[in-house]
Amino acid sequence: MIYLDNAATTKTNSAAAKLAFETMEHSFGNPSSLHRLGLDAENLVTDSRKTIAKELGCNAADIYFTSGATESNNLAILGAVEAYRRRGRRVITTALEHPSAGKAFNYLEKQGYDVVRISPKDGRIVPEDFVKETNADTIFVSCMAVNNETGLRIPVEEIARQVKTVNPNIIFHADAAQSFCKIPVNVKRFPVDLLSLSGHKIYAPKGTGALYIKKGVRVIPNTYGGIQESGIRAGTESVPLIAAFGEAVRQFAPSYKNIYEHHVKLKDRLVKGLSQLKGVSFNSNNHCVPYIINFSVRGIRSEIMLHFLEQHEIYVSSGSACSKGKKSPVLEAMGLPAEVIDSAVRVSFGADTTEMDMDKLITALELAIKQLARSK
Ligand code: PMP
Repeated sequence: MIYLDNAATTKTNSAAAKLAFETMEHSFGNPSSLHRLGLDAENLVTDSRKTIAKELGCNAADIYFTSGATESNNLAILGAVEAYRRRGRRVITTALEHPSAGKAFNYLEKQGYDVVRISPKDGRIVPEDFVKETNADTIFVSCMAVNNETGLRIPVEEIARQVKTVNPNIIFHADAAQSFCKIPVNVKRFPVDLLSLSGHKIYAPKGTGALYIKKGVRVIPNTYGGIQESGIRAGTESVPLIAAFGEAVRQFAPSYKNIYEHHVKLKDRLVKGLSQLKGVSFNSNNHCVPYIINFSVRGIRSEIMLHFLEQHEIYVSSGSACSKGKKSPVLEAMGLPAEVIDSAVRVSFGADTTEMDMDKLITALELAIKQLARSK
């Protein structure tokens, strides 16, 4: 089996899964309970908080656990805009955001906010376009660091610096779901106020994530309940998943550079192979990370290709897993023609993807082009 859909989700790391299981078996207390079992559970949550904070370059107290980046994005965008609503009505984002951010902005637009969505130009998003739209009425700016469909890197650090130079009151949010533990993500390096993380993109189980909130930045919570996570996120903490999230970070963060370099080599091999095939065009460009590659094979619809590859036990994606068969708004925003979007295939690498996987994928694609073209 060749799994090349790591941008959708990763296989849980064994050490992380083991820790989740052991936590369920032995440290099953409620972190809010005052007895020893409660303390055991609380210590596990604290360990993960410290691990993630160290990796991000912040204090443990700035990390708030959530159920994933969807919840973190909703909490950051809706919670901060509400907290700072008296400052102004304008918010700025990109046209390429994940639906968990994009749809939160649609909601704000319905509430009467002036939502500006920056579109890519020549295949990339540039800070100058944010600066042009920033004015005294702008309260919030949000964008993803790496796009989940094409792997496009968005210069979040430079965007944050530049918009805050124009208006220092702006609250800046970054969605680091596809970048944490894969490329450098450090909150000390740029003026970021809020940053979303997802566990299952980095070998932790699904259903866990975090939001970094810079000290002093206000976010109105969207759940009412207990005072867990300093009152920002009510509800009993998912201790097993949080513990596993910390373990996954400990397993992968130290080797992210080596994995990145390995992915550069894999991408090189794949691109060379694909370039030899008839009708292949690339939807990812040289501004993209090496671990997500989007391409189209002329005349073969994404789903047909996906199922063909599946028969060869190769698992890829058509666009993003979240858009399930719908035409990708991201590829549309990139200005690609409909027939290219209809045949888009996304390949995303994991830490254990090999060169042989690339060769097998290329061979299978070659076969697909021959067989599917013949059957047309
Ligand atoms: N943002 C981005 C960029 C993503 O790729 C994803 C997951 N596809 C999310 C947010 C949502 O993350 P989660 O699945 O943890 O809710």
